[in-house]
Amino acid sequence: MTFALHGLAVSSGIAIGRAHLVSHATLEVAQYVLRDRDVPGEVTRLKAAFDAVRKEFATLRGEAGTPGAPSELVAFVDIHAMILADPMLEEAAGAAIQERRCNAEWALAQQMDLLVAQFDEFEDVYLRERKHDIVQVVERVLKALLGKPRKLSKRKGDEELIIVAHDLSPADTIQFKSLKIGGFVTDLGGATSHTAIVARSLAIPAVVGLHHARPLVRDDDLLIIDGRRGVLIVNPDERILEEYRLRKSGQELERSKLKRLKTARSATLDDVEIQLMANIELPQDIEQVREVDAGGVGLFRTEFLFMNRDELPGEDEQFEAYRAVAKALPGKPVTVRTLDVGADKTARAIRGAERIEANPALGLRAIRYCLTEPQIFLAQLRAILRASHYGHIRMLIPMLAHASEIDQTLTLIEQAKMQLRDDRLKFDEGIEIGGMIEIPAAALALGPFIKRLDFLSIGTNDLTQYTLAIDRTDEAVAHLYDPLHPAVLRLVHLTIQTSAKAGVPVAVCGEMAGDPDMTRLLIGMGLREFSMHPSQILTVKQQVLKCDAAELNTRVGRLLRLDEPERLREHLARLDD
Ligand code: PEP
Ligand code: MG
Repeated sequence: MTFALHGLAVSSGIAIGRAHLVSHATLEVAQYVLRDRDVPGEVTRLKAAFDAVRKEFATLRGEAGTPGAPSELVAFVDIHAMILADPMLEEAAGAAIQERRCNAEWALAQQMDLLVAQFDEFEDVYLRERKHDIVQVVERVLKALLGKPRKLSKRKGDEELIIVAHDLSPADTIQFKSLKIGGFVTDLGGATSHTAIVARSLAIPAVVGLHHARPLVRDDDLLIIDGRRGVLIVNPDERILEEYRLRKSGQELERSKLKRLKTARSATLDDVEIQLMANIELPQDIEQVREVDAGGVGLFRTEFLFMNRDELPGEDEQFEAYRAVAKALPGKPVTVRTLDVGADKTARAIRGAERIEANPALGLRAIRYCLTEPQIFLAQLRAILRASHYGHIRMLIPMLAHASEIDQTLTLIEQAKMQLRDDRLKFDEGIEIGGMIEIPAAALALGPFIKRLDFLSIGTNDLTQYTLAIDRTDEAVAHLYDPLHPAVLRLVHLTIQTSAKAGVPVAVCGEMAGDPDMTRLLIGMGLREFSMHPSQILTVKQQVLKCDAAELNTRVGRLLRLDEPERLREHLARLDD
């Protein structure tokens, strides 16, 4: 049966492919009561699933011992095999099936919760973190129980793979960079959550906030994602399929035409130069940056280097990563943002992550976290400074609100410089230090930022979240998340104007910068530097080439005096005339 679900459009384009349901064990396990006569069969089914996973581990263990295999793999497989053998799992789940007549999946998920709770009690961070291994092992057994031990990368012909999940963390999503994924949909999530941001950086269609996709869609269902309209079509008929195939090839044609703009100078009709920079998450994204000949990197979200791993990346590893980006873009600025961990960006290698989770968006996030962990911060500062010797690196500090935070940060940067001098390691003595303006307090009291920093970058994603008190990851309030709210626009305008008067360069690096419907508005506000996903650069350049900056300045001045969002939107639409 064909049906459609509507959610939030977060990454445009059309994907046509087969559903692959991603399971989060605790959330999606069904519960039902068995008839007495079915109980022994259920225990056997549980045992068969454990046997299957034991076999998988034996194969993995064999592969792990071969030359060239990563050494951590042996330890990893051994720990997982040990967890699998723990009587708290198989035996206790078997007993629960018999005592409570519940299904095997449910019995196992309950045991997992018990074990995870026990591990949560450990003082020792290492032991506490092993709870993630328990979850991974249980997910394997659940997959065996549900009878779908499939690998993500194996598809028939050129069919695309579409991930369907209840929710995906930014850490989950970043892993798609190394897999060939056609697109993804989730039931939860907001349009500027970091999961959505990663989807845009991957340039794959995605829709979030669908509410019921995970329970309604089945594995291998044929799906169409319309990323522009925020629609998921399940099991489309031939007519709909044909229409979308046509639209998809139309969009591909448009995109290939845009490539012609790669070498065009980014300037308005009245010859005002507009810098179009790229946002990246990992060094490998540099390929895309070069493909569109961006002016440099305006935002390197370094926290993604810290995700999906048990140990923090050391100073040397970070240095290599930052240097690789700087060397790949000779002569162009590379803006490395210091660790912005917390809120939806969690990394299990970060000690004290549980503290960050208490009230995440308002809690110990980004620079607040770094200032409480000077050793982790200093290692990153030294790595960035060392890389600055190999190119034009700038350093950007996220989530600043207080003058004292700027001072403490600058003191630590000085300390890192002194340590490098003592070690006779080279760095750019004149490295520029910038601050992100993403908290209303910073935009309203810009003085200390302008006095103490070399450049500013407006993070409109967080600025919108904190101005309107809307959690950017929560689809329940997503309809109220509005970067065009007059209050947000006034803060952006104020920051641009105040910085321009003081002669301090300012950029916008939030999602607003990559939205071609906002290009005219931002140029009219006086913005001259934009930073966005590489995939958006040519689309925005196309808009820049059609703008008259002086004329827009007058028209946007009038627009900013409007208080009614609807009238503001009408005026915005007319900026195109
Ligand atoms: C922002 O808040 O606008 C921003 C660019 O930073 P992030 O999206 O990583 O929070
Ligand atoms: Mg931010």
